[in-house]
Amino acid sequence: MQFEDLSLSKSILTAVAEQGYTNPTPIQQQAIPVIMEGRDLVGTAQTGTGKTAAFAIPIIHHLHRNVGSSKRHKQIHALVITPTRELAIQIGESFDTYGKYTNLRQLTIFGGVSQIPQVDQLKKGVDVLIATPGRLLDLHKQGFIDLDHLHVLVLDESDQMLDMGFIHDVKKIVKLTPTNRQTLLFSATMPMAIRELAEMFLNDPAHVQV
Ligand code: AMP
Repeated sequence: MQFEDLSLSKSILTAVAEQGYTNPTPIQQQAIPVIMEGRDLVGTAQTGTGKTAAFAIPIIHHLHRNVGSSKRHKQIHALVITPTRELAIQIGESFDTYGKYTNLRQLTIFGGVSQIPQVDQLKKGVDVLIATPGRLLDLHKQGFIDLDHLHVLVLDESDQMLDMGFIHDVKKIVKLTPTNRQTLLFSATMPMAIRELAEMFLNDPAHVQV
């Protein structure tokens, strides 16, 4: 299979080709069509499998194709929750890379640094927000983040969030989002607590394992 077979917009295909990727990885081949259909997804995949592009590419595709320019940047379309600052930064860079030829606006927020530049960017409007749980809840509580119009929620590295004690925060965050959202849950392993999380918050998900 080639990226051309995935019905992606030209701007994404160009950005992917520039990265030198020839073929989608197994998780991308399986997950991209399911996400483009709008289904919920549970993906069992480690870092290194190409899972970031597996969720970033269909999110960018949807934004580029379906969200009218008048609505762009005004409401947060997609939220990605990830356990660490390093992962958040990498995911933000992926959205920049694959969205290079779209006018997507993404913002990465995490704790341990001043919130002022993050709040300034939020005020300008973002389409995709990538966040660690604590800073997300903190800025939401202060009224800087509106998740009422969210379409896609990604829970990345869910088992690591569990191990780091973020599961309660993650549940709180999910409850701040609309119930008709699309939810994508990724985890390297599937302990009982993560299966329960999926059961609680996902609607008839497709399962992809690599
Ligand atoms: P991830 O699993 O998302 O952390 O990605 C691991 C690495 O694989 C990253 O450095 C990506 O740039 C790279 N990558 C993602 N998709 C592909 C692809 N289809 N072909 C080659 N490399 C890829």
